Parts: sequence; structure tokens; C-alpha cells
Amino acid sequence: MEKKNRILVFGGTGYIGKNIVKASVSLGHPTLVYTRPLNSQTCPSKTQLCNDFNSMGVTLVQGELQHDQILKVIKQVDIVICALAYPQVMEQLKIIDAIKVAGNIKRFIPSGFGAEEERINPLPPFQAFLDKKINIRREIEAAGIPYTSVSANCCAAYFVNYLLRPYEKRNQIVVYGNGEAKAVLNYEEDVGMYTVKAANDPRTCNRVVIYRPPKNIISQNELISLWEQKCGYTFGKAFVSEEEIVKRSQTLPPPDNIPVSILHSVFVRGDFTGFEIGEEDLEASQLYPDYNYTSIRQLLDIFLVDPPAPASAAFG
Ligand code: NAP
Repeated sequence: MEKKNRILVFGGTGYIGKNIVKASVSLGHPTLVYTRPLNSQTCPSKTQLCNDFNSMGVTLVQGELQHDQILKVIKQVDIVICALAYPQVMEQLKIIDAIKVAGNIKRFIPSGFGAEEERINPLPPFQAFLDKKINIRREIEAAGIPYTSVSANCCAAYFVNYLLRPYEKRNQIVVYGNGEAKAVLNYEEDVGMYTVKAANDPRTCNRVVIYRPPKNIISQNELISLWEQKCGYTFGKAFVSEEEIVKRSQTLPPPDNIPVSILHSVFVRGDFTGFEIGEEDLEASQLYPDYNYTSIRQLLDIFLVDPPAPASAAFG
């Protein structure tokens, strides 16, 4: 029988990370999660998730992001996937160092999971955010570590909650810009599955994989109209002009200026669909045509019946 790669996930208890861990287990990989030590201060939801991981057969390794500790664990696995939170992106330099020293890692996926960092030109706060991720890509290349960069575009449940706010009783929906720009909204579970598949795929070595499945390309106006059909209700729209969004990106203090700059890039300018996927590019639904991803229509059905809880953090 084919021996499955052992996968280590940093940030595996996080919003994106937990979906990667679940996908890794469901695809039969021995799966390890490196997490900060659990103690009496740990929030109950993380403790519960760690208990769930234990019962799924995940090996939890508790430790700090410290060279000797992470080196020891990295030596025991084949693939490292990092889904650390955005403020910890530069901490990945420690993981890169340890992977370099260990010398056994077949593939590293750094914490990206958003825009294709090198193919958009957003407002300065979002560009500064992406610059850190680009720096990490350069460091990985310089270290000669086999890697795959993942451009997962927008997390669908996250942005459906943000844009449509199905939890709130409201009769108006806020629209950024004129609502016509096309975004890509991918369900978080699919982000996890595509990421684990890409991590094991020889075709994706030292490449960028873009998650742009055709049924998930949608504008705000289309999303609202689909939601109206599903719930049988017509919402009013409150438009926020591009000028206002740009102004907010210039006047809000960091890091609050980042989310508005992301909104501008994704939903006003349509940056995430603003470049063609050419023959040279790798797109997830084309790489894995047999994987039945959740379309936006199907996701809205999930929202009608059993809505995924809104994430507390601002995106990024
Ligand atoms: P998150 O849930 O905020 O955090 C992920 C993990 O990072 C946590 O579970 C925690 O792991 C670790 N962490 C958090 N704070 C830390 C600290 N102070 N020191 C050390 N470790 C810490 O992250 P996320 O929102 O999933 O983001 C992961 C990646 O996805 C980022 O690159 C982000 O930019 C991207 N993202 C993309 C989208 C999108 O729509 N495309 C949406 C959200 C995020 P432990 O507690 O287990 O140590």
C-alpha cells in the first residue's frame, strides 16, 4: 500500500488551519499539529478543538516557536503546512531555518491562503500586508526548500457572513463600490482539501496554485440576488463609494486600514479575478477535477439550514 506523507501543520488550531488538519486526516495522512502550550488560560473552544483532534488521531505537539523544539518535530514529518495568523507571518523565518537544517522536508506550504501576492497591485495597507508574504516566498526560494504557494482567494463562509450578515435581523445589505466586480469565494473545507492535495502533488512543486473554481466566481450583486432567491426576501442596498473606501484606507490607523484595503481590492477593483489564468498557471479545480467542491449556491443552502458561525477576527 502507498505510504502516506506525514503532515505537520503550524497554526492548525486556527480558522484556516483546522480545515487543513481535518482534510489531512480525511485523506489518510498521519497528521501532527504544532500548537502553543495549552494551559488554564487557553480558551475553551481551542481546548475542545484539541480534544477533537486527539479523537481523530491527530498528534498534538505543544511548544513555542523555538528552533530546537520545532526542528525535532520537523525531522519526523515529510510535509509542513503553515497556517499561522497574519501577525505571525514573519515568525515563519524560524520554520524556514528549521526546515533548512532538517533537510528532509519534501514540501512546505507557507501561510498565504489569499491573493496571488505577486499579481495584484492593491492600496498601500494591503500591499504592505502582501509584501511580508512575498518576503517569505523569497526566503523559501533562497533556502532551496521545495514549496507550494497557495492562493485560496476569499474564504467563502467568512465573506458570506461579512457581506450578507445572515445572523443579524436587517433589511439592508452594504455593498462596496458598485457591486459588479467579480470575487472568488471558496468554502473553507475545500480550501483545506485543495491545500492537502496540492501539498502532495509533484505537479505543484515550486509553483503557485490558484483556487478559482468557475462556480465560485461571483460579484456582490450576484451574491445578494442569489441570497434573496434562497430566502424569498428582497433587501435594500446601501452603497459605499470607492472614494469613501479609499479615504478610510488612508485615515484609519493600522491595522484597521488593512480590511478596508482588502475590500477595495477584492470587491471594488476585482483584483482577484483581474488576471487571466493562462496555460502556464495551476488552478485547483483543473488540477483536481474529480474533487466535488462546494459551489457558492450550495454554500448558501448550508447557510439557510445550518449557518457556519461568523469568525471573530477581522480578515487577514
Ligand atoms: P488565526 O486563526 O488567527 O490563527 C492561526 C493560528 O496561529 C492560531 O490558531 C494559533 O495557533 C497561531 N497564533 C495566533 N496568535 C499567535 C501568537 N500571538 N503567537 C503564536 N502563534 C499564534 O489565523 P487564520 O485567520 O486562519 O489565518 C491563517 C492565514 O490565512 C493567514 O495567512 C491569513 O492572512 C490567511 N487568511 C485568509 C483568508 C481569506 O479569506 N483568504 C481569511 C483568513 C485568513 P496555536 O494557538 O495552535 O499556537
